[in-house]
Amino acid sequence: MRYDIMLMYIKLKPLINKKIPKIMLPKSRGKIALISVHGDPAVDIGKEEAGGQNVYVRQVGEALSRQGWQVDMFTRCSDANQEKIVEHNSNCRTIRLTAGPEKFIARQKIFNYLPEFVEEFFNYQHQQRTIYPIVHTNYWLSAWVGMAIKKRQSIQHLHTYHSLGAVKYRSINTIPLIAKTRLRVEKECLENADMIIATSPQEEEHMRSLVSKKGNIMVIPCGTNIDCFGSVDQVSGRAKIGVDADAKVVMYAGRFDERKGIETLVRAIARDEVKRHENLKLMIVGGSTPGEKDGMERDRIGELVEELGIQDITEFVGRVKHEDLASYYAAADICVVPSHYEPFGLVAIEAMASRTPVVASNVGGLKFSVDDYKTGLLVPPQDEVAFAKGIDSILADDQWRQELSENARKRVEDKFSWDGVATQLDQQYMVELNKLCAELGLLVSAV
Ligand code: UDP
Repeated sequence: MRYDIMLMYIKLKPLINKKIPKIMLPKSRGKIALISVHGDPAVDIGKEEAGGQNVYVRQVGEALSRQGWQVDMFTRCSDANQEKIVEHNSNCRTIRLTAGPEKFIARQKIFNYLPEFVEEFFNYQHQQRTIYPIVHTNYWLSAWVGMAIKKRQSIQHLHTYHSLGAVKYRSINTIPLIAKTRLRVEKECLENADMIIATSPQEEEHMRSLVSKKGNIMVIPCGTNIDCFGSVDQVSGRAKIGVDADAKVVMYAGRFDERKGIETLVRAIARDEVKRHENLKLMIVGGSTPGEKDGMERDRIGELVEELGIQDITEFVGRVKHEDLASYYAAADICVVPSHYEPFGLVAIEAMASRTPVVASNVGGLKFSVDDYKTGLLVPPQDEVAFAKGIDSILADDQWRQELSENARKRVEDKFSWDGVATQLDQQYMVELNKLCAELGLLVSAV
């Protein structure tokens, strides 16, 4: 949309007569601000605090830019040496705003810097002489930012939670101090945002049963790059990463975080029904920083692997570049997603796109992405016996594994491609723009 025209109309609104003017939208759709305060879409993925949300925002941003939107992704600068603006393509950028010290701050401690983030957002708009009519926020911290912007400017506010405090706090022992604030913000956002994007029907159900009955929710799943994941076959994947052609390979990919359930996986691998498979190999993929929270979890899992006596068959691969993961998924016979709680779980659909069956916890978005007995298996979370049984049953039956793997690819092609997801978001943004323009006395239509 030609936003300059809209701005002009806003300025002229008091002078516009009763007849509603109609603006024809050119192919260029206009500007969107994607806000992801703590999940920088331009950083390396697979380390502390950099996982699914970063991938989601970056991929959504790029896919929307291909649909004709001009996408600016706002995040907090977390290192003084970082570039302030990263251009991903001519219509998609990451913009880093200064809010608090320019260094890494754990997400539990970012809340106090949000007012500064909002001021910086307005300063940026002012300097650039622009405004963003659509603001799509990610995670509760950004929800607060979106609501603060909406108090001062006419916008349509869309929000994706990525994780719900009301669900998360049920599965952890130590509730952080920030919990009360988070729960309040999540409720306020659900009740007041123009549209909440749930990434699975299960997430929508959690919002309704645990957060509020009020507010607008629609389901648009997360997506994956089906050209990248699925481009490698098992033989070439194994050759590329140096794994024996006849090995039985089980893998995990993701951050080192207790709620990811890596402990359940290693305990399952150490059980006799899994260990009995010849040439068994466990690959744990994901980065960590010594001394940080993820480094400590990495050490804890390392010690457990030794204690269980599976160090010879376990490889800690470290962080792998997102695109390079395609070879790892392809090389594996099974990808395990043992999370205690998982709002969506990108790894499951990346593995399935790569034709790798998934054994996952029967929780959250995994219930939606993994089709039980068709694309993998769903088992109770934190149940190492059930995980072992599931892994063993797939490793023991190659023909069944092949069937699961073909179904898995098809399911992702049908439901979870980024371009399909971006088309659904594009349509919703157009609806939101029309609502905004109607409020402002304008009528927008796409050409
Ligand atoms: N990932 C990566 N390299 C790694 C490990 C993980 O690129 O070494 C990516 C992985 O491909 C996925 C994301 O990190 O896209 C993890 O997302 P998921 O939704 O599974 O978990 P989250 O981080 O949101 O808890």
